[in-house]
Amino acid sequence: VGVVTASDAAAGIGAWVRELELIDHHCHAVMGADLGRDAFERLLGESGRAAPAGCSMFDTNLGLALRAWCAPVLDLPVGVSGEDYIERRRALGAAEANARLLAGGARELLVDTGYRSGELVSLDQLGRWIGGPVHEIARLETMAEEVAAALHRRGVAPTTAADVYADVFAGALAERKTAVGWKSVAAYRGGLALDWSRPGPGEVRAAAAEWLGAGPDHRSGTPAWRLAHPVLIRHGVWSALDTGRPIQFHTGFGDTDARLAGSDPALLSGLMADTADLGTPILLLHCWPRHREAGYLAQMWPHVHLDIGETIPHVGARAGAVLAETLELAPWHKVLYSSDAFGLAELYHLGATLQRRALTAVLAPLAEMGLDRSELVRLATLVTSGNARRVYPGLAGGGAGTRGTGPPALTC
Ligand SMILES: [Zn+2]
Repeated sequence: VGVVTASDAAAGIGAWVRELELIDHHCHAVMGADLGRDAFERLLGESGRAAPAGCSMFDTNLGLALRAWCAPVLDLPVGVSGEDYIERRRALGAAEANARLLAGGARELLVDTGYRSGELVSLDQLGRWIGGPVHEIARLETMAEEVAAALHRRGVAPTTAADVYADVFAGALAERKTAVGWKSVAAYRGGLALDWSRPGPGEVRAAAAEWLGAGPDHRSGTPAWRLAHPVLIRHGVWSALDTGRPIQFHTGFGDTDARLAGSDPALLSGLMADTADLGTPILLLHCWPRHREAGYLAQMWPHVHLDIGETIPHVGARAGAVLAETLELAPWHKVLYSSDAFGLAELYHLGATLQRRALTAVLAPLAEMGLDRSELVRLATLVTSGNARRVYPGLAGGGAGTRGTGPPALTC
């Protein structure tokens, strides 16, 4: 008698968790065009490839979650077939489907603009659909490639280009005032198993001479630069750390271009130790299946944070379990919300819906322990928006970061 069980508590918690504001600190824009079944299914997994003949990517936790949670948004019954879902989406038109699905997600976005941006809608369009501000996160490796391409276009000789590379790159970072943070995809460019010490000027010049001297890749018909030189990747990261703006790292699972063995967030431990006094926030993205390691690292280092955004829609009905594993060691003031949506507005809707469900599941045992509602609201709000506001100085009401000793906007 009088004992609150976890399931009783969850019923009450779910109602107010649904109302919490979400800030999505890592996502991409969506496709503006109508999508056929093949194109849609290729965006429904990380592989980018079709399922084997006769099989469907709707038969995944992500696909099942979509049939449960996105179907009603398009006026379809829960459990609708993949085929009928695609047909309804096409009948509504991509713009209407995108508008409906994005309306149920975050109200403020931090968008990674460094990947296939040309195929996706503009940030302005995305902002109109969500009805809130959209900020840019700039990819360091993409910016280095833009520097290389610009020097090449201007006909600067490779030796001169190598001499000026570090200054031009620093200038590019300084000029990118719209970026509220940076992202490194080092995990995709040889992996995170690097000596993460800051490279010296001579080392950077020699590396730039090697990379710029080799020239662009012409196989696709247009000259393409791809940064995979470990010294220049480290240089990009340290240059970004010097700006004080937060830096995100892809870790854990990704598409076929990533190598899982080289994306363990624990491989960044040396960098975390070397940057602890500098204090620039480091954000570990995705993390799965190393989310427990990431949670431990976030507890160890005051400037290290994490999300499991990409993971949540992919694990679908298991989202609560994975969030609970993340929070085994990660403090509540270190976990941020993201959807890592790319291409499909469904991923925005699922990211938000499943994050709220996962939070409800994780909070219920705390209610059972006797924590009152105001305390649960405070904890949940850290994850849904408060931590993002504290870490990213560029957001509305944001500010203190982990630098300095001043109290953050929201107490943790
Ligand atoms: Zn992403």
